[in-house]
Amino acid sequence: MSSPQLALSFDPSVVVLSYLTAVFASYVALDLAPRVRTPDRAAARAWWLAGSLSMGTGVWAMHFVGMMALQLPFSVGYEADTTFISWLAAVAVSLIALRVAAQDGLTLPRLAVGALSMGAGICAMHYIGMAALVLNPPIRWHWGLIAASVLIAVAASAAALVIFFWLRHLSAGQARWAQWGAALVMGAAIVGMHYTGMAAAGVDAQSVCVSSGGLGGDNLSTLIAAATGGLLLLTLLTSAVDARARRHSARLQQSLQAAKEELQQQALRDRLTGLAHRELLDDRLRHALSRAGRDGSRVALLLVNLDGFKPINDSFGHAVGDRLLREVGQRLQAQARAHDTVARLGADEFVLLLEGDVDETLLAQIAQRLLDALAQPLEGVLPAGHAPLSLSAALGIAVYPSGEGDAQLLAQADSAAQSVKRGGGNGFAFFEAHMQADVRDQVELARDLRAALAAGGDDQLALHYQPKVEAGSREICGVEALLRWQHPQRGPVSPGVFIPVAERFGLISPLGDWVIDEACRQLAAWRAQGLQLRVAINLSVQQLRQPDPLVQRLDQGLRQYGLEAGRLTCEITESAAMDDAAAIEATLHRLAGLGLQLSIDDFGTGYSSLAYLRRLPVCQLKVDRSFVQDLESSADARAIVKAVIELAHALGLKVVAEGVETEGQAQVLRHKGCDELQGYLFARPMPAEALARWARGAAENAPSFRASSYLDGL
Ligand code: C2E
Ligand code: MG
Ligand code: MG
Repeated sequence: MSSPQLALSFDPSVVVLSYLTAVFASYVALDLAPRVRTPDRAAARAWWLAGSLSMGTGVWAMHFVGMMALQLPFSVGYEADTTFISWLAAVAVSLIALRVAAQDGLTLPRLAVGALSMGAGICAMHYIGMAALVLNPPIRWHWGLIAASVLIAVAASAAALVIFFWLRHLSAGQARWAQWGAALVMGAAIVGMHYTGMAAAGVDAQSVCVSSGGLGGDNLSTLIAAATGGLLLLTLLTSAVDARARRHSARLQQSLQAAKEELQQQALRDRLTGLAHRELLDDRLRHALSRAGRDGSRVALLLVNLDGFKPINDSFGHAVGDRLLREVGQRLQAQARAHDTVARLGADEFVLLLEGDVDETLLAQIAQRLLDALAQPLEGVLPAGHAPLSLSAALGIAVYPSGEGDAQLLAQADSAAQSVKRGGGNGFAFFEAHMQADVRDQVELARDLRAALAAGGDDQLALHYQPKVEAGSREICGVEALLRWQHPQRGPVSPGVFIPVAERFGLISPLGDWVIDEACRQLAAWRAQGLQLRVAINLSVQQLRQPDPLVQRLDQGLRQYGLEAGRLTCEITESAAMDDAAAIEATLHRLAGLGLQLSIDDFGTGYSSLAYLRRLPVCQLKVDRSFVQDLESSADARAIVKAVIELAHALGLKVVAEGVETEGQAQVLRHKGCDELQGYLFARPMPAEALARWARGAAENAPSFRASSYLDGL
């Protein structure tokens, strides 16, 4: 029979001390946990080990002080080695706790394993610690209460982990208070577990403490509490210093990042206008397109190409030019919305990048607003004494998605702007498929053509000549020079392809100059061989728009080779002649003034008015091939050709039919009174030597070719 049990009593002040120790240890633990997560692995490891030591000591001290609060009627002591093992258990618990706290998130398995192992560690610490108190007769345990204390330990551990992960989501200010609150709760849980565990111990009233020679004494609890408090305080301080240093370096890093971004921004800005420049635009465009690809929104590019900037820059100097461009940049920016990108591409080219709900109506409105903004008089840009400038521009618009592919939005907007330019500028146009079936291809062609011209042209460029014959006699009465380009990789490229490219990319003028020069040289060479021919060259509308260099070049060619101007004919398409009537008319008069013959090419495809044609100093109409083709099959075509011939004759013009391929067509044309014929029926375009052979052969062999006055010296 055992003797009666002692009713356990505790020293309240020591209980309070143990609770405070628990709260403080909890607070330090919560403070430490984030340190273990620092990206610096060595620092994280150091924090983990040192933190576990200090936290473990804190938890153990709470437990030990709590044991000291137990008031027994006999003097007690604790076995030193067992006590040491219980301390080890406390440190192990801390190692587990901080390890789990260092994870990215708290999953259920993590919580379960963490809470169970921490709970087990706490119980181990507690009951090993109790085992250091050796009594005789030994303590009799109350298993129900032990189970309750185990449950509390596991629950307290789980709560601690949940609280820790919850704290992470709070702002710094909130977290500090929440951390204290959490420490109070955790402290209570730990103390609760501890005293439940104590309550499970049944101590016999007759007990003797066998270990009374061990650790003990009245002041021990105070000493341990003070030492632990000091340790914890030290840890907390270190933690605070570390946090400060980290915040400081984070701030430094942040401002460094900001400075870097600022620098990058500056590098991506156009120096003169402060607008985005090419790379930034490309970047924004790429992002805009991928966004649009994802969410089905639209992207639009408006390319603004100023009219007449170069002459202003040339005559007033760069300072004025720069001021003007800055002003233009500001005006465009003022018209843009906050999230639009305004960029400067080249000298006088600007781009507006729009995203979102941009339909054609809105774009047309924006384009018009931009044009209106530019048209406002520019005060103070030109030197005093000059009337304020008013600007205009050619504006090209390309939209994604449009079914025309996406990657070439800029080139598409450019070709739309070029179409406006060709029409004289000051306006806007949307990109259309026909403007550039394959934009990229054209860019490459332009690059290669530019290179060919830079190398002198002669390697890759050549003129081929196609005879024109008199309709009745079929004797040669002239040739048309047709430009050929032998591309080093692509082989022959059709003029129908590269002439528009040259026009779009500003190459028509050097190309046209090459043609003029080559035709004049060939005329002189043939003349030297005794072959007196008349050569027709084709002129582009863009050449006609710049009359000065054109007239100068023609004049120079004629003089250099000592040619009679009447031997050179200029073919101008009907649509070119109609392009900008007044200006073209003036140019044509200047050409005629040189003594050149003028011919309207592709007649019937444009909408020229008779009254206008009468005013032009032309002497020849070339009926377009499309009418000639249908002559044998279509009565309408015959009627039209007949009317054209009569009309031309009434105006005193000669008529040439081009694209004559069959004898039947030739018969009809001759019957209708057509003057000259040109086409595959007689000869294809051919190189100069072949043409000379052909002309001589035709004169000698074919009975239908009379010995010609054009073939002197044979
Ligand atoms: P175009 O001035 O109307 O030239 C006549 C075109 O019809 C030439 O095509 C010629 O080879 C082709 N042709 C001639 N006879 C026949 C025929 O019986 N049947 C068919 N189906 N076609 C025939 P090409 O050489 O391809 O030149 C196309 C256009 O390119 C020319 O039309 C002209 O507008 C332009 N071009 C050619 N050379 C130059 C040049 O030096 N400068 C400029 N600005 N344009 C040029
Ligand atoms: Mg022609
Ligand atoms: Mg033609």
